[in-house]
Amino acid sequence: MAKRDYYDVLGVNKSASPEEIKSAYRKLAVKYHPDKNPGDKSAEDKFKEASEAYGILSDKSKKENYDNFGHAAFENGGGGQGGFGGFGGFNGSDFSDIFEDFFGDFGGGRRSNRGRSSSNRGSDLRYDLSITLEEAYTGKKQNIQFSTSEKCNTCKGNGSKPGHSPDRCTYCGGNGRVRTNQGFFTVQQTCPQCAGSGEEITHPCNDCNGQGNKQTSKKLAVTIPQGVDDGTRIRLSGKGEAGTKGGANGDLYLFINVKSHELFKRSDENLFFECPISIADAALGTTIEIPTIDGGRAKIKIPEGTQSGKQFRLRGKGMPYMRGSGNGDLYVQIETEVPVSLNKKQKELLEQFREIENEKSNPSIRQFFEKAKSFWKN
Ligand SMILES: [Zn+2]
Ligand SMILES: [Zn+2]
Repeated sequence: MAKRDYYDVLGVNKSASPEEIKSAYRKLAVKYHPDKNPGDKSAEDKFKEASEAYGILSDKSKKENYDNFGHAAFENGGGGQGGFGGFGGFNGSDFSDIFEDFFGDFGGGRRSNRGRSSSNRGSDLRYDLSITLEEAYTGKKQNIQFSTSEKCNTCKGNGSKPGHSPDRCTYCGGNGRVRTNQGFFTVQQTCPQCAGSGEEITHPCNDCNGQGNKQTSKKLAVTIPQGVDDGTRIRLSGKGEAGTKGGANGDLYLFINVKSHELFKRSDENLFFECPISIADAALGTTIEIPTIDGGRAKIKIPEGTQSGKQFRLRGKGMPYMRGSGNGDLYVQIETEVPVSLNKKQKELLEQFREIENEKSNPSIRQFFEKAKSFWKN
C-alpha cells in the first residue's frame, strides 16, 4: 500500500505552523493511543502512522527533506555512496520515543530534549554542491566550508568546567525519566530537569555554556567520485553535527547538481549531441572531427548518402559508471543543413544539379509522390 502523505495523516496543510502540527498530532495520539483502544489493530495502525508523521514533520531538517523529496527522502537507497539510508527511518522504539518526548512537553516545565542516548545523535546536514559535466566526468576533490556544531574542546563535550564533573540529577535521581499520570494512562516521560541525561551540570564550562558542543565553521575536503549525476546524494558518515551527551555524530549529505552543458546532453552514462553537416558532405561523404567530453577529439566517417537524423555511436566515449568500471557511449546525431544565402555561382550550380537530378537520386521523394498519385486516383 502506498504511504499516505504525512500532512494528510495529521490533517494539516503544508503551511501549518509547528504548533498546529503538534496540536493535530496530540488529538490523534490521545484518540488512538493503544492503552485506550486495547486489541484494536486499526487504532494501533493509526496511532503509529500519526506518530511517524509527527516524528518527521516536527523535526525541522527532516521536514525540509520530506517537503523536498517526499517519502523517498526516508527510503533506504542502494547503500554506500549515494544511498540515503538512516535518515529518520521509523520503527517501534522510535515511536515510543516520539510519544514520550511529546507528552514530556506538557508534563514538565521546561521543554524536554530527546530522551535516551540513541536520541542524542547529532543532526544530519545538507550541503548543495554545483559542478560542471566535465568535473562529473573526471571526478574532483573540493574544499567545502559549512556551519556546524562540534564537540567543545575545553570540556571534551561533557559540559563541565575542567576539574569538575556533572552530578546526578536531583529531579529523577539519575534515571533520566520520570513517571506521571496523564489522564487515562501513566506515561514515562523524559526528565524535564536533565532532558534525559540523568546528570546535572553544577559548574558549566565557560566555553560552551555547559552545552558540550560549540557552533563553528568547519572546513572539509570532499571527493566527488567520477560519474556522479545531477541529483546524486553522497553521504559522509559522521560528518554532520556533533551528538550530545556521548551521542554519535550526524551525517553530512552532499547534494550534487550537475550544470547543463552547452554541447553535450546526458542520459545516465550516455552522452548525446546533434552535429550539423552540409548537404554536400551528407551526399558525397566525408570525415568530420567531433569533440569528446574528455576535452579531446574523435573522427567520424560520414558515408555517401547519409540522411539527416542518422546516429553514430562512439563506444566508451560517454560518462564513467559511478559504480563499477567502464564508460557509457557517445551518440552523435547528424543533422543536414539546407544552405542559405547562396551566391550567384552556387545558385547556378544548384540549378544545373536540379535539371539533372533523377528519380534514382531521391528514392524517398519518388515513393512519396507515387503514393500521392494513387491517392488522387481513388
Ligand atoms: Zn565546553
Ligand atoms: Zn533528571
